[in-house]
Amino acid sequence: MVLFVQTLVNGQLMKIIHSIKQMQSFSESVRREGKKIALVPTMGSLHEGHLSLMRKKAGEDFLIVSIFVNPTQFGQGEDYEGYPRDLENDAKLVESVGGECIFAPDVVGMYPEFFQTTIKVAYITKNLCGISRPAHFEGVATVVAKLFLAAKPHYAIFGEKDFQQLMVIKRMVKDLNFDLEIVSAPIVRENDGLAMSSRNRYLSPEERKAALSLFRALIESRKLYDAGQLDADALIEHAYKIIRSEKLARIEYIKVCDAETLEDIKTVSRNAVMALAVHFGRARLIDNIVLRV
Ligand code: AMP
Repeated sequence: MVLFVQTLVNGQLMKIIHSIKQMQSFSESVRREGKKIALVPTMGSLHEGHLSLMRKKAGEDFLIVSIFVNPTQFGQGEDYEGYPRDLENDAKLVESVGGECIFAPDVVGMYPEFFQTTIKVAYITKNLCGISRPAHFEGVATVVAKLFLAAKPHYAIFGEKDFQQLMVIKRMVKDLNFDLEIVSAPIVRENDGLAMSSRNRYLSPEERKAALSLFRALIESRKLYDAGQLDADALIEHAYKIIRSEKLARIEYIKVCDAETLEDIKTVSRNAVMALAVHFGRARLIDNIVLRV
């Protein structure tokens, strides 16, 4: 079924496609016209962070935004059921940045009965978020591969906000020879520094205020690094102190890792990333900052 949203984009109706087969044949027809396809995979509930990825599409390229809350990347007790969904508003936002097509498959279409084929990226999924969410990246890699096979993009755009996810997708594309490029885009923040996230709406006003400690901790730690502190433990301790001063924060991890392998490091002697996951009430927030050599 192809639904036509009643809005004109560059003189054309924006398409919302639900069926994988129809997505494939539609993408084929776009390719036959000689156009390049840019894909921005999302879980919807779009905000300025997502829109910044969409704006990275080059000139006349054809933008497809996928919106799919993927059940297989949520663990037990996580927020799959309650994850915010608002396709109508998302369509307006996609249209506002010149998007021409939304791919919004349903769960049964993506995971038919007896589904049993997954993609596991072995090592860089072990650290950071992979510790508390052991099945998460298998769900992510598998769904992103399926989105690539459905939308047939020439390139796909991902945010550095989910740094580990970006590295997992890059690894998968390289290892499996996907014929497309991965483009990355910097973290978009609120004016006060909080990284934009669909999950920020879970925060109470007090939690929202306390969550500012994440960016503060990352910035202060990078200042320390810029001043010559290369010892990872010292940088981590500095960030811990700042976030721990907020009573509402429950720290899951703060780590300094090699920016490519995502292995823990002792000393920042190559490009590194300081990454953290912290809970405030029912919101689990992640953020990071790159420490360049
Ligand atoms: P999500 O809908 O959370 O799965 O995110 C979809 C894409 O948007 C991913 O590539 C994210 O990294 C990216 N993204 C989410 N929030 C931000 C942000 N604040 N800045 C930049 N990219 C973001």
